[in-house]
Amino acid sequence: MLEERKMIYLCLAHMSEEAWEQKYVKEAFDTNWVVPMGPNVNTFEQNLADFVNKRDGGDIERKVVCLSAGTAAVHLALIGCGVKAGDEVLVQSFTFCASSHPVTYLGAKPVFVGSEKETWNMDPKLLEMAIKDRKEKTGNYPKAIVPVALYGMPYRIDEICEIADKYGIPVVEDAAEGMGSRYKGQVLGTFGKYGVLSFNGNKMITTSGGGALICRNADDANEIMWYATQARDAYPYYQHSAVGYNYRMSNVCAGIGRGQMTVLESHIAHHKHVQELYMELLKDVSGVNLHCQPEDDKYDSNFWLCTATLDSDVKVVGQENAYKKIVKSAVGGAAGVIHAVDSAVTDCQPNSNVEALRVFMLSKKVEIRPVWKPMHKQPVYKDAPVYTNGIEEDIFKVGFCLPAGPCVSDDDVKYIVDCIKEAIES
Ligand SMILES: *Cc1c(COP(=O)(O)O)cnc(C)c1O
Repeated sequence: MLEERKMIYLCLAHMSEEAWEQKYVKEAFDTNWVVPMGPNVNTFEQNLADFVNKRDGGDIERKVVCLSAGTAAVHLALIGCGVKAGDEVLVQSFTFCASSHPVTYLGAKPVFVGSEKETWNMDPKLLEMAIKDRKEKTGNYPKAIVPVALYGMPYRIDEICEIADKYGIPVVEDAAEGMGSRYKGQVLGTFGKYGVLSFNGNKMITTSGGGALICRNADDANEIMWYATQARDAYPYYQHSAVGYNYRMSNVCAGIGRGQMTVLESHIAHHKHVQELYMELLKDVSGVNLHCQPEDDKYDSNFWLCTATLDSDVKVVGQENAYKKIVKSAVGGAAGVIHAVDSAVTDCQPNSNVEALRVFMLSKKVEIRPVWKPMHKQPVYKDAPVYTNGIEEDIFKVGFCLPAGPCVSDDDVKYIVDCIKEAIES
């Protein structure tokens, strides 16, 4: 009998062969540390610090605080930067919503900054333009700058930090997708005042759900930990001098994280290998352009997801039917409740050949996804100021993400590329 082909997903969690995850989780139960702190949390934090501090030409000394989610890490980083209600924060527009939503949790306002073509990340020129213009329009400088390592690609951190320093604005690196990506041999998340990591189920490593904040020093880390544990003052009873949050990572999740640290390096190597394979196999497929990192050895992306663009004149099988039906689930669908919509289209969406390719690939049991829709095009941010050259909107229309996780084999990549050829050649 023919074996049925398994679905190839974008990036699935993958446990260590030795199942260290289970051992450390069992340890949490055996030692009765089933709480949001404990020995697994402490050790996972130390493992993470050892990983991010390793650098070509001399190690650094950042501290890491484990939290319940990457989104919580963004939230607390903004608090650590002193962001308050009414303040403005500069956020890369081309990102997942977790980069900007925490700005609004604080009653502050995101101001979106466009991307440049090479990295798809925050354009330093637009950043400086935005800083000057906000100062002129509001009388104040924004309180923080949030660049995002989109799909793992390093941002132009030297230029961004130079501008940030010039105006005295702290940088919060959203390296949720860029765990283990490096710039000039240094791990992303260690350049700014804070660096965000995520261990959600689909990220480079997982704790089922979780995140961490990389901090400059022990004082900053203690402050973040204080806010993450309901901001309690040192009295024999509950005394609070600030509003805190319940954002600490659970000792059970940290057990999974400790196990995952043993596969982190091999996961990163695998993602890079998959990118190389796509590069090789897509080389001669005209109209499909793999997104590569700048040819400059400063850049060392983890290629969390491999991405590509489809020329708008490429004809894809089934294109005439794209967007004809209202979709019942959302992208990333399995998790959570999705609001039903009454239209199959919006005023800013991927080209119909990209949508047709998604549907075609799904019929072949391959998950591909549009790239993130820019935040300044989201209805929820329709009133937010934006400084852009339109590059991220252009990429959104033609871009898509390809499977790249540890469960994607060489044969899978060959199959995926064959399916793409079938979709555009017939
Ligand atoms: C995943 C992600 C986050 C948030 O991480 P969670 O752990 O899912 O809360 C933040 N920013 C970006 C760019 C992400 O992709």
